[in-house]
Formats: sequence, structure tokens, C-alpha cells
Amino acid sequence: MLTPDAVVIGAGPAGLAAAQRLNASGLTSLVLDKADAVGAVWRRHYDRLHLHTPRIHSSLPGLRIPSAYGRYPSRAQFVDYLESYAKRFKLAPTFNAPVAAVKRDGEAWRVEAGEHSARTPIVVVATGWADFPNQPRWPGMADFQGDILHSSAYRNGAPYAGKRALVVGFGNSGAEIALDLCEAGADVTLSVRSPVRILPRDLLGVPIVSFAIAQRFLPARVADAINAPILRMSVGSIEKLGLKKAAKGPMQMIEEDGRVPVLDIGAVKKIREGAIKARGAIERFTRNGVVFAEGGAEPFDAVILATGFKPDLRRLLPDAAGVLDANGRPLTSDQPTAEPGLYFVGAIASPTGQLRQIRLGATRVGAEARRFLAEERTTFAGGVR
Ligand SMILES: Cc1cc2nc3c(=O)[nH]c(=O)nc-3n(C[C@H](O)[C@H](O)[C@H](O)COP(=O)(O)OP(=O)(O)OC[C@H]3O[C@@H](n4cnc5c(N)ncnc54)[C@H](O)[C@@H]3O)c2cc1C
Repeated sequence: MLTPDAVVIGAGPAGLAAAQRLNASGLTSLVLDKADAVGAVWRRHYDRLHLHTPRIHSSLPGLRIPSAYGRYPSRAQFVDYLESYAKRFKLAPTFNAPVAAVKRDGEAWRVEAGEHSARTPIVVVATGWADFPNQPRWPGMADFQGDILHSSAYRNGAPYAGKRALVVGFGNSGAEIALDLCEAGADVTLSVRSPVRILPRDLLGVPIVSFAIAQRFLPARVADAINAPILRMSVGSIEKLGLKKAAKGPMQMIEEDGRVPVLDIGAVKKIREGAIKARGAIERFTRNGVVFAEGGAEPFDAVILATGFKPDLRRLLPDAAGVLDANGRPLTSDQPTAEPGLYFVGAIASPTGQLRQIRLGATRVGAEARRFLAEERTTFAGGVR
């Protein structure tokens, strides 16, 4: 059995950043990923995706995203960046190594991953959300004759040209996929059940995330109150478009509910122009479409569920119940947890951008892990292994 100082689960942005910081702290780390390359989830995202946080706030520790990639790098450029990041810091993840469970083993952890299993005092969970697509069910869904897919399986609008597509959910993926379908020549309807918060991606030429970073020390409610007038002017009334505005401001919404506002890159304009129709919640499916709760049946050829993710780590961490909430989501991220030696990186949404949070979180976890190991080695002379 392998006995590294630390095991990092996941070779996406969070896992790579964590491994870089652990190695920089002088620890040996084993990075395990079930996929066959770094940034596997980014390789699978839809084709037109660009970062919606600016390059300068999205780099991982120790290596900037090249300025040649522009303000908002494309998905492919971000994958290139992750590859060069791994190369630069000589991170050599073990691929095709799914971790089934992490269990307590005396003072250490046993990471169960078949031939790649390891015993280690430190585990960093950087498994992201992609394994847990939230796929709501409606009556009649099984009889629907068209295609139903989750946004994580959507690639581009080409197969839907000339077809009637329903996008369910108006988060960042829903907004961008609706726009993509519309530009590809599909007849697009958005089903928006909950009240939303929409922000422009850039305000007065400045990335909106930069405003959030500048205001990060203000209480969320105060920042929201300060920003409200200019955001109202910039986005305009969304009620006229058939959408409901969330009662909480954007910062409060992220902080209290972990819900990220829509950073609009053009979907709202299409709704205003009538090129994308906005409807309310779905009541049920029919054989050839849906019936909306507000009334009215409409036919659709395809339904794309942009309904987000519901991470549940209970199976991965059966002995670490104290660090998860009742639904299996980490209670805390990017800092020590209630379980000695167990850390999460990038597990909780941040108002200042998830990748920025991953950089900060990995840096903190690297330092905390080193401190933890030093104390551990003092307490258990000869080490835990
Ligand atoms: C469409 C989309 C766009 C986004 N755009 C931005 C943006 O512009 N800016 C921003 O700041 N944030 C953005 N985010 C949020 C966040 O930054 C990304 O989701 C980011 O990829 C998170 O990195 P991660 O390493 O935590 O997770 P992931 O990138 O999901 O990587 C997790 C890795 O863990 C591996 N894994 C999972 N389970 C196991 C297991 N049991 N055993 C072994 N390996 C496992 C997976 O194979 C995967 O490689 C976006 C998210 C989405 C969904």
C-alpha cells in the first residue's frame, strides 16, 4: 500500500492547485483521478463556454493564465492552461483511479482505490460537483418522446437547429445554453421556476467579479444595497420579461443560499427581443412536450435540464459524517474540518469567483496540512504510518 503524506482526490483545478501547494510545503502527495486526463470536467463542458470570471482572477497558485488568452479564456484555452500547470509543477496524477471511499484507519485515513489504495494522514477532497447532476422528475416524463438531457451532457446547438428546445433553469449554464441554441437556429423557450438575479458580466467595462472582490469585506446586504441602483440601470426591468426578481441581492444570495447569480452574456437581450421565450415552472410532461404550471401545453423536441448539481459525499466519506450536512454537502471548505487531516478545496460557492476561491483555498489547505502533519509527527513519534 502507498503511504504518501497526502492524497488529493481529483485532478481538476482544485486538485491540481492543492497538490501544487502541498508539494510546495515539502509534502509528498498522491493525486488520484478517475478520469484519464487533468481537467476532465472542463474537457466535457459545452463547446462555446468561456470563463465568466476574468483571467486575472481565475489563475491557480503559482502560474498565471497567459494574457494572450484574453479577458475571458475559452474552455479549450483553460484546459491547455490546466495541462501546462500540471507540467510546470511536475504534478503527475494517477489516472483511471476512482476513489470508492475514504475510511478512518487509526490516526490516519485509508483511501480505497483498488491497486492505487493508500494510507495517509492527510486527504484533500477536490471532487467538484460534476458527478451529481440534479435531475428533477415530473409526472409524464417517462412517456416524453423527445430528448431529455442534463446541461452537463450538452455540447452545442447544431443537433437542435430548426427544432423546439426547452431549457429548464436560468442559472449560468441555462442562460448560455439558451443563447447557444437560439444562435444555432433552434426555437427556444426557457422554463424559469424561481426568482432570479441577473448581473451583467461586465459593468462600465469592468468585470462584475472585480466589483465583488473590491467589496468583499462589506457585509453582503450592504454591498447589495450600494450596488442596487447601478445594477437596476444596467439590467433593466426583468419583470416585464416574465421573470421574477429574487428578494435577496446577489451577494446575499451567494452567501446565504450558495446560489450564484446569472452573469449575463446575451440571453436577456434575446428574451427582450422575443427570440427566447420565458415561461414559468413545468407542471408535467406530455408525450410531445410539457404543460406549464401557469397553464398551456407546448410541444418540444428536446428538453435540456440546466438544473444544477447536488453534490452528496456521504458514500465517499462514510466515516466523516461530522463534516457533511444532512444532504452530504461539505459544511466547510478551504480550511480545517472537524475531522483531523481531512480537507475540502473549492467545495462551496464564492461571490468572488470559484476559481479565485480555489486558489485561496488550496493555499490555505497546503499550509494547514503542513502544520497538521508537523504536530502529528511530534505527537506520534515516528509518524503515523
Ligand atoms: C459550466 C461551468 C462553468 C464554470 N465557469 C466558471 C468560471 O468561469 N469561473 C469560476 O471561477 N468558476 C467557474 N465554474 C465553477 C468551478 O470553478 C468549476 O466547476 C471548477 O471546475 C471546479 O473545479 P474542481 O477541481 O473543484 O472540480 P472539477 O473540475 O469538477 O474536477 C473534479 C475532478 O475530480 C474527479 N473525481 C470526482 N470524483 C472522484 C472520485 N471518487 N475518485 C477520483 N476522482 C474523482 C473528476 O474526475 C474531476 O476530474 C464553472 C462551473 C461550471 C459547471
